[in-house]
Amino acid sequence: MPDWTPEMDATLRQGIAKRLSAAQIGASLGRTRNAVIGRAGRLKLSLYTRPKKAPVPPIRRSPIGSLPPPAIPLAPPRMAPLRPSEANCGLLQLSNTSCRWPHGDAPPYVFCGAPADLAGGRPYCGEHAARAFTGYGRRY
Ligand SMILES: [Zn+2]
Repeated sequence: MPDWTPEMDATLRQGIAKRLSAAQIGASLGRTRNAVIGRAGRLKLSLYTRPKKAPVPPIRRSPIGSLPPPAIPLAPPRMAPLRPSEANCGLLQLSNTSCRWPHGDAPPYVFCGAPADLAGGRPYCGEHAARAFTGYGRRY
């Protein structure tokens, strides 16, 4: 590729003044978009950049196909009251020795956090291990 000529630099400046994109300017000069960006940078010119779109809030979809979204935001789900014996801790507070029994079905997730029954090879405290490991044929 030949070097940039003063005429090409003038075309680049005109394109910037017209707020053309680097690709459009490059097309008129027979150069690539990246070549235009590089040249503009070396000339300390700032190319027109499209204003960034405002972030779109995520669409909350109903689990059932076409139901309209609720008019008022849903209140956070109420979790069953915890017994005093059940310590609560967040995911980041869990250690290798704490019970990993989860409470609740929605954030913020909390876990039992009581000392786990590691001798039995289970990641739960005694009470939760009894609930998790029911044996054959026994159902709640
Ligand atoms: Zn537990």
